[in-house]
Amino acid sequence: MYIVHAIMRMEDYDCQFCGRTATNFVFAAFVCDSAECIEKARIERGGPGGHMKRKAQGLPIVIDNDDQ
Ligand SMILES: [Zn+2]
Repeated sequence: MYIVHAIMRMEDYDCQFCGRTATNFVFAAFVCDSAECIEKARIERGGPGGHMKRKAQGLPIVIDNDDQ
């Protein structure tokens, strides 16, 4: 078995935030080398955690035999 890496021609893409040639693909966005643009991509994606902040509520496991 071997892994085939998809070759992405970055020069075919522009940074989604400043329009320069993209050199990175981060947070599902094409961005240039600018830390600002990478940060924007991160924020647009929902920031650290994003929707994952809504943690599943840890409901206690209770064995209830009252129904019997
Ligand atoms: Zn940029």
